[in-house]
Amino acid sequence: MTRPAVARINLSALQHNLTRVQQSAPGSRVMAVIKANAYGHGLVPVARALAAADAFGVVCLEAAISLREAGFSQRIVLLEGLFDEGDLALIQGYQLDVVIHHISQLELLEQGQLAAPVDVWLKIDTGMNRLGFAPDQAAAVTERLERLPQLGSLRYLTHFACADERDNPATQVQLDRFGESCADLNGERSLANSAAVLAWPASHADWVRPGIMLYGASPLCGETAQDLGLQAVMTLATRLIAVNPHNKGDAVGYGADWICPEDMPVGVAAMGYGDGYPRHAPIGTPLLVNGKRAALIGRVSMDMVCVDLRTQPDAKVGDEVVLWGEQLPVDEVAQQAGTIAYELLCGVGSRVQFEYFS
Ligand SMILES: *Cc1c(COP(=O)(O)O)cnc(C)c1O
Repeated sequence: MTRPAVARINLSALQHNLTRVQQSAPGSRVMAVIKANAYGHGLVPVARALAAADAFGVVCLEAAISLREAGFSQRIVLLEGLFDEGDLALIQGYQLDVVIHHISQLELLEQGQLAAPVDVWLKIDTGMNRLGFAPDQAAAVTERLERLPQLGSLRYLTHFACADERDNPATQVQLDRFGESCADLNGERSLANSAAVLAWPASHADWVRPGIMLYGASPLCGETAQDLGLQAVMTLATRLIAVNPHNKGDAVGYGADWICPEDMPVGVAAMGYGDGYPRHAPIGTPLLVNGKRAALIGRVSMDMVCVDLRTQPDAKVGDEVVLWGEQLPVDEVAQQAGTIAYELLCGVGSRVQFEYFS
């Protein structure tokens, strides 16, 4: 028997969420961001479901190559660009688009001997202060790039720091800086992550770059995925592998953190931090037993969590436990655990079995 820890991936929900992107930014092309193994959902099956996207964004060359080898012909953009001169031949060979965010990458391009043209996205730092050229360098870097015999097309992008807050003025400041920095430059533009797709229409430009919303988690502070018309893609589920009656005063789990306040049934579900369930999920974090809410008790173990079954005295070994998914937003679990849905989704472990359905 295989362990029942499973991530069920709803490919129709992915397609629904892509449609939400297209409806929200009807004049823009879509670069579906599928970095980090498609936010933990599985690179190639997710890309297949999102085949209607105009481009894919990834971080690792290996991921880009897997996509090409799986037969995708869209643009595949390396969002952190190249890491050393050895990457150039592969970028060229597999016809990948490359982000250039730092002078060292520009130098690699200048020094590289390339037979075929490379399509470049020049990243401008408009206020995130992480990656990118300063706005006043955009023109000079463009000139250097245009001198390269191996330059194919040239596009411009920037990334927002605070687009998830609808009333944060920083996004408009970044929009304005981006507009000024490439006002006199030719080339398509891209600014919007998921939050900006939904909340900042002025940022849509030629290409939007949604990630998290494709997977059905909310990119906006204080707004649920349901409010935003998004459907959860991953349901992380397992089964009860034990149900034990405990007495008032019994301590459950490591550190004896939970003391039974009365005689009560305690369920044990086969999912722990070794599977990517957050160890910091506190007592009271919701989960679903047979579709009904129950509460986590005690500390999360590597392979297990314990469940308060007082609300479900009939629950038995083999019954289904959902950790997050369709009926239990991953955003809610993330908030309980002091993190974000991105981290939970990306962190689902390799020993969880992935099942795809549409
Ligand atoms: C990850 C990433 C995105 C997607 O961000 P979401 O918040 O998941 O929509 C967009 N652009 C770049 C450059 C990224 O690295």
